[in-house]
Amino acid sequence: MSQIHSQIHSQANTSQTLATNLLILGSGPAGYTAAIYAARANLSPVLVTGLQPGGQLTITTEVENYPGFATAIQGPRLMEQMAQQAVHTGTRIEYDLITSVDFSHGSPFHLMGDSGTTYKARSVIIATGAQARWLGLPNEKRLQGAGVSACATCDGFFYRGKNVVVVGGGNTAVEEALYLTHHAAHVTVIHRRDKFRAEKVLQERLFNEKKISVLWNTIVEDILSAGTPPVVTGVVLRDIQNNRQYSLQTDGVFIAIGHTPTTSLFQGQLELDSEGYIVIPTPRSTQTSVPGIFAAGDVQDKIYRQAVTAAGTGCMAALDAERFLSGL
Ligand SMILES: Cc1cc2nc3c(=O)[nH]c(=O)nc-3n(C[C@H](O)[C@H](O)[C@H](O)COP(=O)(O)OP(=O)(O)OC[C@H]3O[C@@H](n4cnc5c(N)ncnc54)[C@H](O)[C@@H]3O)c2cc1C
Repeated sequence: MSQIHSQIHSQANTSQTLATNLLILGSGPAGYTAAIYAARANLSPVLVTGLQPGGQLTITTEVENYPGFATAIQGPRLMEQMAQQAVHTGTRIEYDLITSVDFSHGSPFHLMGDSGTTYKARSVIIATGAQARWLGLPNEKRLQGAGVSACATCDGFFYRGKNVVVVGGGNTAVEEALYLTHHAAHVTVIHRRDKFRAEKVLQERLFNEKKISVLWNTIVEDILSAGTPPVVTGVVLRDIQNNRQYSLQTDGVFIAIGHTPTTSLFQGQLELDSEGYIVIPTPRSTQTSVPGIFAAGDVQDKIYRQAVTAAGTGCMAALDAERFLSGL
């Protein structure tokens, strides 16, 4: 945990009620950007960090594509800066986890924190993000950031001229494989079935791409590494048709089996799509199906999933919340 994040103390005592104009759920780029904009609009926002203060970027190393940094910035450092900016502009940060919500009676909304605090908010911005799905392989977690990734847009750049594998068979896997051809010398897609689930147009593009080959009916059983600090050197595969186990040399492993948005809390309270993402009924807005509740970042975005797009929608959500509050 980074410096400011480890210094955030919950100001909540058990059983207290905390009333606010705007409650922000989540401390990733979307949540902090919303907080900065809302604080500068004198809304005195309260931001609840959740269990991962700083969000997904705290588990990565170098971030090279967030504008404003001439050289790469470390993910935890970037989030530390955002947290400090949110506090500096006037955000109250609560180190708490929202465990239940009641949006059924309109504004003010009631939310319960794990600390025992009841939050009473005239408007809410949900920025609870999403988590990549992993395979659960023995060495997968240990090698994340050392050759194992779930984001080609984020990490593809580091594999210029190298060989990589992509695991999966849906749209995510095919899109990641196509993106990686801009950098890698060769991309091997590993799929446990004998056909893809991805859209036909994407499949056609993949089959026409000379840099991509596909291993069908194959599962990954582990990831191999060498050196200190370790770097990925290969994958252990099994052909499920003849049960043969073998290894394949590779420099990088991209797990592309989808993401899970953090929305179980909102089931029955907000409109969610079939994959659990928060639905934004009106384009170019952050307003959810309940007036006064806004959503920003990966929790409502299954396409872009970048820190800068999360920050962008965080800004939009704060501006939308400000307009909603002035109309009350
Ligand atoms: C390993 C890795 C590397 C990446 N590299 C890059 C990169 O180089 N460049 C790039 O642009 N993007 C990168 N990304 C993607 C980027 O991190 C995400 O797009 C971005 O973090 C999404 O921001 P967010 O604010 O929507 O949510 P998140 O960052 O996912 O944050 C969600 C927040 O919600 C909180 N939360 C969850 N549930 C609750 C609750 N019940 N109550 C209160 N709070 C809650 C969590 O604690 C967390 O703080 C990377 C992602 C990963 C996993």
